[in-house]
Amino acid sequence: SREIRLAARPVGVPGPETFELASTRVPRPGEGQIVVRNTWMSVDPYMREWMREEVSYAQPYRIGAPLLGSAVGEVVASRADSVPVGSMVTHFLGWREYALLDAADATVIDTTAAPAEAYLGPLGTTGLTAYATLTRVAPVEPGDVVYVSAAAGAVGSVAGQIARKLGAAQVIGSAGGPVKAKKLVADFGFDAGLDHRAAPIGAQLAEAAPDGIDVYVDNVGGDHLRAAIEALRDHGRIGMVGAISSYNSTEPVPGPDNLFKLAAKNATLRGMLVTSYLGLFPEWIERGAAWIADGSLHYEQTVFDGIDRAPDAFLGVLSGANTGKMLVRLN
Ligand code: NDP
Repeated sequence: SREIRLAARPVGVPGPETFELASTRVPRPGEGQIVVRNTWMSVDPYMREWMREEVSYAQPYRIGAPLLGSAVGEVVASRADSVPVGSMVTHFLGWREYALLDAADATVIDTTAAPAEAYLGPLGTTGLTAYATLTRVAPVEPGDVVYVSAAAGAVGSVAGQIARKLGAAQVIGSAGGPVKAKKLVADFGFDAGLDHRAAPIGAQLAEAAPDGIDVYVDNVGGDHLRAAIEALRDHGRIGMVGAISSYNSTEPVPGPDNLFKLAAKNATLRGMLVTSYLGLFPEWIERGAAWIADGSLHYEQTVFDGIDRAPDAFLGVLSGANTGKMLVRLN
């Protein structure tokens, strides 16, 4: 069995020296435990934050220990009646080919409703992040103009479609490069796709939404957040989901210089951490799975094959190599 360990804490952009591919024995289950052969691993931007010495909202990864992240797989050994051999489960011991865990830490999934890997994407915390943001954190009201950044990514591509379903009148997305910007409109149902690499995002947003925006799903922070505050209408709402533009920064990044405009706009800027919304999972799965089944929620994934490619997949998700959910397939 192979696993990926944190070899060194990165300074700035991580590189191959950040990771170590190591071999271990396939574990055996103790009483109440299961062994899972992981088949798909999620690759997520938050992992960059967990590589820091200090993380505000979680335990940092330990040097020399395997990385953690969501995965799905098949139970190949079990000493827990609740999760028999052959079950497909999701759990948090990704970044290794075989995982040993307490059965209570695994969730059995229904792979007749959707393929297993969808539980790492639209039917996992990715989709839940988009849903919780647009229904609870920065709720969309019918007729709203909604702006989503990193809109071709896992959270963003689902968020744009949920905004539409909740009654948004106009949905604007931004992504890196002309191909992704076009894709936002052609495949993910956005009304407009902005290319943040082509020109300053503020000017592009002002042009796409001349009368302003009501809701912003912030996956990026930095100049994207500044642009959204500028464009926000009275009583506008911002869901602060991510700040990927600063994850590789070596210095603390200042907040937007126009923050105080939120006061005059009676606006709300509200952070969200998806783990605080896990209680919404049944509601989201019921709605999201139905939209996937009837073909009205389109999702995509970018797949790297083999655990040895996982570091490349991680570097790729930070630099925009993905459309939709970034995944590693194990075999
Ligand atoms: P994505 O699939 O969106 O992948 C990340 C994308 O970010 C890249 O594809 C790239 O797209 C974009 N990006 C990278 N650097 C920049 C930059 N400097 N400026 C603009 N865009 C950039 O990842 P996820 O959907 O998994 O996550 C999206 C965001 O949501 C992240 O910030 C993540 O940390 C956050 N998140 C937060 C959660 C929470 O609980 N609060 C839960 C899940 C995710 P492009 O090519 O378009 O630039």
